[in-house]
Amino acid sequence: MIQRERAELEYLCADCGAKNHIVPRQPIKCMECGHRIMYKKRTKKGESI
Ligand SMILES: [Zn+2]
Repeated sequence: MIQRERAELEYLCADCGAKNHIVPRQPIKCMECGHRIMYKKRTKKGESI
C-alpha cells in the first residue's frame, strides 16, 4: 500500500509522551528522554491548509 507522507512525521514517545519529529533515514530517538520506542501519531486526513 502506498501512502503519501510528509518529510517529517510526528511521533509520540512511548516513555515520556513527548512529541518528536522523525526524519526519514535517521534513527528514532526521543529528544526529551532518549527513548527509542515511538508511537505514530494519528492525524486526520482531509484538513486543508
Ligand atoms: Zn521520551
